[in-house]
Amino acid sequence: MIHIEQHGPVLAIRLARALFGRPLWWTSVYWVDGLLIDAGPRCTAPQLVRALRSLPVEQIVVTHGHEDQIGGLPVLRRQYPEARIYASMRTLPYIEEPSRLKLQLYRRLLWGMPQPFSDVLTLDAADNQIATANYTFRVVETPGHAPDHVTLFEPTQRWVFCSDAFLYGRDECWMPEADLFGVISSLRTLDSLRPERVFSGSGRVSRTPRPELHEKIGELVRLAREVARLEAAGLTVTEMVARLVPREPAVNWWTMGHFSATHLIEACRNYNSVFAPSAPHDNALFYTAGVDAEADPTDRGDLIR
Ligand SMILES: [Zn+2]
Repeated sequence: MIHIEQHGPVLAIRLARALFGRPLWWTSVYWVDGLLIDAGPRCTAPQLVRALRSLPVEQIVVTHGHEDQIGGLPVLRRQYPEARIYASMRTLPYIEEPSRLKLQLYRRLLWGMPQPFSDVLTLDAADNQIATANYTFRVVETPGHAPDHVTLFEPTQRWVFCSDAFLYGRDECWMPEADLFGVISSLRTLDSLRPERVFSGSGRVSRTPRPELHEKIGELVRLAREVARLEAAGLTVTEMVARLVPREPAVNWWTMGHFSATHLIEACRNYNSVFAPSAPHDNALFYTAGVDAEADPTDRGDLIR
């Protein structure tokens, strides 16, 4: 299934495997000025190539080494043999050897298993800048969702192509490999770019990205603070999950626990250990006195104030 929206010179192309005519999980790629940002999954690559049809694709940049960003590369290479394909040094191993991703069954069913692919240049070799005929995109490191994640920023238009570095919606369950410290730091990095348009990995294009970034940062910091407060009060992870998440969302069931509220709470604990390395269990006053619920959510002090 494919869905295309035009945003000025940018095409937002959403891709999903369909079941009974309904999309299972959207991912997206973007086309602008001969540049394709991400390759989409393997299962929708033929549809993507048909959708692009007569459009030129001179360059492809992969934002991170997940199957829904890299899986379409072999099909795109056959269609566009001259295109330069870029990824970060840290993404290359996943493109060359996708078995490193250790994909769970649901991910193979949702997106298809990527084939090994090796014809990729490093973004370092391009000095972390991608020039098209009319724009110049700067590579910005945005780890957290994945350690190799990068964002493309176009400074004259103030466009941010952030793929999965900014996931919309309330966070109720996470993958165990996601890193809250990296996610929040990267959201702050995106905000510091003063973006006017944010093009996200779900295909959502925001015209008011900064308030939305602030809201997301605030939600995550408040959750981490709440976890710190409960942990200081002696609650176990299981008890914190029961207190903070009414029930595991359905995604927990069909990903066989890969997405889980427990992983989100653990991510909060890891984040708190960065900001408050001293033992929180015997320092309840530190948290209860130090946390200001009305504080600016973008404040870098977070727990230590
Ligand atoms: Zn991803």
